[in-house]
Amino acid sequence: MDVEKRALFYGYLDGIIPLEAILKIGGTSWANSSYNIRHRRSKCPNGCLYCYVRVTDNRSDQDAKRLGDIEDLVPEKLILDPKKTDKKWRIPKKPKTIMFPSLHDTFLDTVEPYIVQVKRMIDVGHNIICVSKPLLECVQKICAALGSPENSTVYMSKFIFRFSIGSIDNKVLKAWEPKAPGFDERFACLRYAFEKGFKTSISMEPFLDIPDLTVSKVMPYVTDGIWIGLMNYRDRTDIVESPGPGYDGVLDLLYSEPELRKMVVRLRGNAKVFWMNSIVNQLL
Ligand code: SF4
Repeated sequence: MDVEKRALFYGYLDGIIPLEAILKIGGTSWANSSYNIRHRRSKCPNGCLYCYVRVTDNRSDQDAKRLGDIEDLVPEKLILDPKKTDKKWRIPKKPKTIMFPSLHDTFLDTVEPYIVQVKRMIDVGHNIICVSKPLLECVQKICAALGSPENSTVYMSKFIFRFSIGSIDNKVLKAWEPKAPGFDERFACLRYAFEKGFKTSISMEPFLDIPDLTVSKVMPYVTDGIWIGLMNYRDRTDIVESPGPGYDGVLDLLYSEPELRKMVVRLRGNAKVFWMNSIVNQLL
């Protein structure tokens, strides 16, 4: 969804734009490619209860047989694939926008190989969206490597942080994303990157409680957009429905059509807020 598609969506909600026009606009896609450096069977240590990677991993039993069980690998640590960390990139016919990473996060012991790959990709012309539930030390290292005076114009112009912050509430984050950094650390990362002059954006997919407070808190430090979407794959049995007492049914209510409609009405005046397809589709 870009600004134009969002205007069509709002026009549809106001009864000015017909449904057919919205159906034609297609899906929301941040990037036209993705890249990951984890070993194919290594679990992301953040341990999010709704992790969609588990779904895609569980689909590929063939890989499991070929590469061994994921449980063989250290679950507290992300194991990297040397073929991925050593990759040399050719100059592409058409540069891409690459979501890197998309199937894991970046940690203190993996940030250096991450930076090496980011630089190689940008050197051949690609743009990078860095998706992360970030650790401050990692963000500091990335900013230092990409934002140094001699290369800042090249790297910084082709790199954007997209920090995942589904709630301002540490208790909620801990429940759904038990080993990921809390709100304060993620917010510190956002401020740090912003103050260093980097492009910044927020993913609230999934949003884990009423998003308004989180949106207003992060707003001043976002140079790009705040993307709000539902938790995907909730109907799959391998996705945990609720972290436990106090959370049962919360998302069902929050993600219900009337509540989504009210949320869109409340936040549509905010030019930085964009809606993921999961929400748009619920309201058509
Ligand atoms: S940070 Fe992303 S990849 Fe890692 S466990 Fe959470 S949802 Fe999965």
